[in-house]
Amino acid sequence: MNRIAKRSYFMYTFALAFLIGLVLLFFNMQINSTKWVIKDYNKHLYTNGELLAAGSITDTYGTVLAETKDGKREYNSDKNIRMATLHVVGDTAGFISTGAQNAFKTELTGYSHLTGVYNLKKDGAGKNIQLSINAKLSVTAMKAMGSYQGTVGIYNYKTGEIICAVSMPTYDLYNKPKDIATDKTDKYEGIYMNRFFTGLYTPGSTFKIVTACSAIDNIIDINTRTFTCNGAWVNKVGNKVKCNGVHGTRNFEGALNCSCNTAFAGLAAELGNEKLTKTAEQCGFNQTITVDNFRCARSRFDLSKAYDIDRAWAGIGQYTTMVNPCHMATMLGAIANRTGYTPEPTLIKGKYTSKINFMGSVSAKRLDNMLRSNVMNYYKDSRFPNLDMCGKTGTAEVSTGRPHAWFVGYSQRPDLPFVIIVVLENSGGTGIGTAVPVANQVMQEALKLYVTNYMH
Ligand SMILES: [Zn+2]
Repeated sequence: MNRIAKRSYFMYTFALAFLIGLVLLFFNMQINSTKWVIKDYNKHLYTNGELLAAGSITDTYGTVLAETKDGKREYNSDKNIRMATLHVVGDTAGFISTGAQNAFKTELTGYSHLTGVYNLKKDGAGKNIQLSINAKLSVTAMKAMGSYQGTVGIYNYKTGEIICAVSMPTYDLYNKPKDIATDKTDKYEGIYMNRFFTGLYTPGSTFKIVTACSAIDNIIDINTRTFTCNGAWVNKVGNKVKCNGVHGTRNFEGALNCSCNTAFAGLAAELGNEKLTKTAEQCGFNQTITVDNFRCARSRFDLSKAYDIDRAWAGIGQYTTMVNPCHMATMLGAIANRTGYTPEPTLIKGKYTSKINFMGSVSAKRLDNMLRSNVMNYYKDSRFPNLDMCGKTGTAEVSTGRPHAWFVGYSQRPDLPFVIIVVLENSGGTGIGTAVPVANQVMQEALKLYVTNYMH
């Protein structure tokens, strides 16, 4: 190597080391700047670890949900609104990680990652944030859930806006129960988590939507097939998946209408681990849904150790499968749009988000028709007056007590493009008996609030 080459080699190495150093410094600043914001010694923003000086949080109508007044963080004066929006607004201490006060603290405090300074207004507040959440509708959802734990979420499948994400149990920020930390019953189970975003549930029969999608994608004669149900699906060695009835002979659509386990366990067994897993993953399982600044819990689908009987159970939403309610909402959005695409969910009013793809348009259209058929021919439109509702119920068997009742569905009305997800934990009731009335009650209120010319 001649001298000039040696010297330039040294220069390049030096320059590279300098660049790496710069990148590391910048990276470190990015990572730590968020942490620095929440340090207790930041007295401007936090006192005793509580967020005080920050912008206001309003709902879709501009109703104030949280604001800073005279150095104090204050919440809506209505107790029901405080309780129904607790998990989307969040607490001042940041226990509720997906709450706006935690998820958007950088924006609310006006902190800049680039300059490391706060851009506080004269009154000590940062940027204001308007959520897409409807506080009024959230109260309706909370009341409709009664004493059940679980979640009710509404997602606009045209805009991606989350309209409602109520999680139970909840509490009043102005009167926080003193025994949360010491309680030995399960009445405060997961009280700091928004079940809509970070919950994972056994999907039960709502998963038949995914099994149906896989059948549409992979079984050529699916539309001319018939299924015979004598009360159970049985494999070659006599292992059984029991059905909820004896359904006789049905076509594909009819089998989904009555949620026939025999038909769907059989379809899953026939599809095989590879094809069913491929569809589930396209539909968002084992993937992460992002909402603005945070990630939802990842839905799980794992057939890596599954025999045909395990796969049959998986095909009806049991086995080891777990689903996140917000993920379920977006998957239904992709069907409601009849394209397989739906906007990424957001809590910010009017925010544009990119589209997520869950399935092909042929499958989306077919599933949309089948979910409409479920309501028209089985649950009946009289359970959802004026809603042009589509959907699927579920009664999910769980090891932790009585079954969870599910309803997942959406309105086909162009003026009410809402998906609704209802999960009532350990309700003991069926999806149709307990979750459907809750879904209807909340959607009827949505009709009143969003469809201005709707006549009652
Ligand atoms: Zn059956």
